[in-house]
Amino acid sequence: MASSQDLPKNYDFAEVEERWRSTWRDEDHYFDKNSKKPQFVIDTPPPYPTGNFHIGNALNWCYIDFFARYKRMKGFNVMFPQGWDCHGLPTEVKVEEINHITKNDVSREEFRRMCRELTEKNIGLMRITLRKMAFSTDWSNEYVTMQPKYYGKTQLSFLRMLASGYIYQSEHPVNYCTRCETAIAFAEVAYEDRETQLNYFDFDGVEIATTRPELLAACVAIAVHPEDDRYRELKGRTMKVPLFSHDVPVVLDEAVDPAFGSGAVMICTFGDKQDVHWWKQHNLALRKAIDRQGLMTEIAGKYKGLNTTECRAAILADMKAQDILKRQEKLAQRVGTCWRCKTPIEILSERQWFVKIKPKEIADAAHQIKWFPEHMLLRMENWVEQMEWDWCISRQRIFATPIPVWFCKKCGEMAVPEDKDLPVDPTQVAPKHPCKKCGSTEFAGEVDVLDTWMDSSISVLNVTGWDGSGTPPFFPAQIRPQGHDIIRTWAFYTILRSVALTGQKPWNEILVNGMVLGEDGFKMSKSRGNIIVPEEILAKYGADALRQWGAMGAATGSDIMFNWNDVVAASRFQTKMWNITKFALIQLEKEGFDPETQITALADRWLLARLSNTVEQVSNALEAYQFDIALKAIREFAWDVLADNYIELVKGRLYKDDASRKGACLALHTAFDALCRLLAPFTPYFAEECYSHLSPGKSVHKQPWVAFTYDDDAARMEGNLLVQVVAEVRKYKHDAGLALNAPLGKVTIYSPHTVNDEGDTGRTLNADVHWRTDAAKLDRVITDIDFNRSVIGPTFRKQAQAFMAAIKALTPEQLANPPETIMLEGTETAIPENAFTPKYSYMEEGAQVDVITVGDVILTIAK
Ligand SMILES: [Zn+2]
Ligand SMILES: [Zn+2]
Repeated sequence: MASSQDLPKNYDFAEVEERWRSTWRDEDHYFDKNSKKPQFVIDTPPPYPTGNFHIGNALNWCYIDFFARYKRMKGFNVMFPQGWDCHGLPTEVKVEEINHITKNDVSREEFRRMCRELTEKNIGLMRITLRKMAFSTDWSNEYVTMQPKYYGKTQLSFLRMLASGYIYQSEHPVNYCTRCETAIAFAEVAYEDRETQLNYFDFDGVEIATTRPELLAACVAIAVHPEDDRYRELKGRTMKVPLFSHDVPVVLDEAVDPAFGSGAVMICTFGDKQDVHWWKQHNLALRKAIDRQGLMTEIAGKYKGLNTTECRAAILADMKAQDILKRQEKLAQRVGTCWRCKTPIEILSERQWFVKIKPKEIADAAHQIKWFPEHMLLRMENWVEQMEWDWCISRQRIFATPIPVWFCKKCGEMAVPEDKDLPVDPTQVAPKHPCKKCGSTEFAGEVDVLDTWMDSSISVLNVTGWDGSGTPPFFPAQIRPQGHDIIRTWAFYTILRSVALTGQKPWNEILVNGMVLGEDGFKMSKSRGNIIVPEEILAKYGADALRQWGAMGAATGSDIMFNWNDVVAASRFQTKMWNITKFALIQLEKEGFDPETQITALADRWLLARLSNTVEQVSNALEAYQFDIALKAIREFAWDVLADNYIELVKGRLYKDDASRKGACLALHTAFDALCRLLAPFTPYFAEECYSHLSPGKSVHKQPWVAFTYDDDAARMEGNLLVQVVAEVRKYKHDAGLALNAPLGKVTIYSPHTVNDEGDTGRTLNADVHWRTDAAKLDRVITDIDFNRSVIGPTFRKQAQAFMAAIKALTPEQLANPPETIMLEGTETAIPENAFTPKYSYMEEGAQVDVITVGDVILTIAK
């Protein structure tokens, strides 16, 4: 190792980070399945492999790495796995874009191959960012959901839930995107405010208002409120649908709002969720007017083949022609749209696969989990409470986990594979046995595939070693870290699946992080141009600065606004710390330190007492995942306590060559060693670099967490006072126009306690300092007079000098309590108001002194 004298003047983050990255070994972060240590398994979010590890991911992973590193130092056997959630629409769309094809232009197998290839490339790019950011990933527990090893487990979990009745298939209304041609779950419906037209038309003699006239072909009933007198005679009647002429019943329902439109509404299959509700409630017919491509069906008659927009225009035109369109009004409307392509969703009744949602089961498990921050549990509760439909898990796409079932072509019986044959693609292979019911060997494989959340909602089962039977060996995980934007999806589905498959909650704790907003306070988006990418920050300031930003940006769970200033401040902190490091190393290198040294000097005791406080604060904050509080405490100690005060106080002692030096060396070493360890989870490169100079050949990341305690309340109190005394005297020097190191004469400090400062105060202030415990004996005397020339000049003119001389001749008692008149050149003259102010000074043992008070301490400085 180079001598500390040769340490580079400036901290070069790029050189240091690159060097340690190539030194550290992956094996040091592997979870040990045979360890006797307590386990700490993290259910890391598997990001979608877009190729860009974005700033929101970075924040989330910073949090994970902070506590993963902390827990390792605390003696836990930590698993910090890294998954990749590969399947889904965005990749399919990207592949179509890149190759200028649509999914139907190539075979399913070829299309999947293209998706896999793109995904692999993107994962490679994102791994590089993860490594640069020094995340202590357990690469032995990496999983990729598109690989057979993983999606075989997804299929196994599907079969288990099918067997236990959690999964069923049924024809049921589902949210459907006709552009993407797939069903989507409620959690994937985005909402948009739009303006539409409310059309009033004559419906067999009754006025009806509708925003969707194109659904007229799908009309199955007219509903009115049971107490609406206007429609009393309609009860029990049927009505004829205009333009289509089929008859529909009139139903009475309390949910109809008599004040909306005419108070009579048409029920179609399906315009919205309310239609689905009524359709079930009143056991109405099903009329499918829109198909999976969003085109009008056979029952739409002459409108068949039109898309919904064309059909709407045609129907409105025909209504006008028949003179049944009464009037049209503008209406603000919230429309459910596809999360991916923003196309308004249709509610189509389709044969789909569903997972049963049992709200109580999920709510109970959610309550057994400790939520950080606590209020995030409410979001889960609200979501669970509003669940009305089961979870639709089938998708009509390609790049996804195949649903592992076949149907007998002869009798329709369902066949499933055996566990050992998983994974299977039922469209590529046939079942191994003939149909159980009819003996036929002709099967049709299910072409639908699974919702991506079916893959990612077993991430915790996968990492804890689930094999399809009972409770996995490392289950439940200790913690799930994730963003608040996916509480309704990933958190919800994971709890559901864990309870369904193991009967237990998936994790002991869940840590929810906020979103990262742009510097302008808005959500980052391409259109706003406020996107910050981690790679840019890494290039300019390095990983440690970015990680500090992640910790300090906001309280855990709150949204955090990106701010370059915070990154700059983080980098400055490293510069400051680097200077402390160099100073400490030079001192410690001279003769090392002796752990047996008795610490006696106040400054040393004070440093250790403050360090002890800091360690406690940081540890408590980390236990509660309050990273901002933890790092703030570390920075304050390093900057305010150690650098700005302690080192200034003991510099003089350290430059001496006597016994008093030893205490300072031990205190300095203790504080510096602890600081490296406290910083290790936050700034792994920087902490490693500093520690490698302090303890050559050792890694700070293999050291135990700081266990230092030092109980000395008196030292804390008196030391704080000492620091204040020094600060006040320095201010005194500054006000007097003196240099900070200018010699000062005798300084006497009257303190209620005996203080052993080993001469630190005197050397720091460059003064002859005397500590005394007796009371100061001070006399207040008038030593000068301030004349107010703006009063004296105009009043006395040529007599001004004489007036001032007369005042000066007054006795101290008269000056303190001046007479009303004075003899001026033989004339009794009034003393004008505000003509002068006596100036007081303090005398101590016959010599003039300046006095400063700090709490119950009095300082006198000889003039
Ligand atoms: Zn879509
Ligand atoms: Zn059969």
